[in-house]
Amino acid sequence: MTVEALIERVEYWQGILGLTHWTIKVELVEECDAGPHNSAAVRPSVYYTTADLQVTESAMEKDEYERDAIIVHELIHILFRDLTEASHVPLKFLNRDVAELYSDRLDFETEGVVDVLARSIAALSTQAW
Ligand SMILES: [Zn+2]
Repeated sequence: MTVEALIERVEYWQGILGLTHWTIKVELVEECDAGPHNSAAVRPSVYYTTADLQVTESAMEKDEYERDAIIVHELIHILFRDLTEASHVPLKFLNRDVAELYSDRLDFETEGVVDVLARSIAALSTQAW
């Protein structure tokens, strides 16, 4: 897997997900910033339509469906950026312990929804790599 092939696939999914106005810096890495057990990580800018996407080399050795599910998962996080930001607003009004509980629950539930959506959308792909 080359970074060029990965970029091409990210652009393919950007088109389907309505994210073509985003500038996404794509990196193929040995280990991503989300930690050694994660396949990918994305960091969307808070104010601009730019994002940094890291995908691990080992994740891109998986089959087409798994690779697509990983890419779509990260792109959905970009799609959810404003929703995620809005859902974190109450955190500044909560005490530290409650804020931590709320934040952990929010992150857990978000990951669940993002993962189901990503896998469903990836399964609909009609274009091979
Ligand atoms: Zn995620």
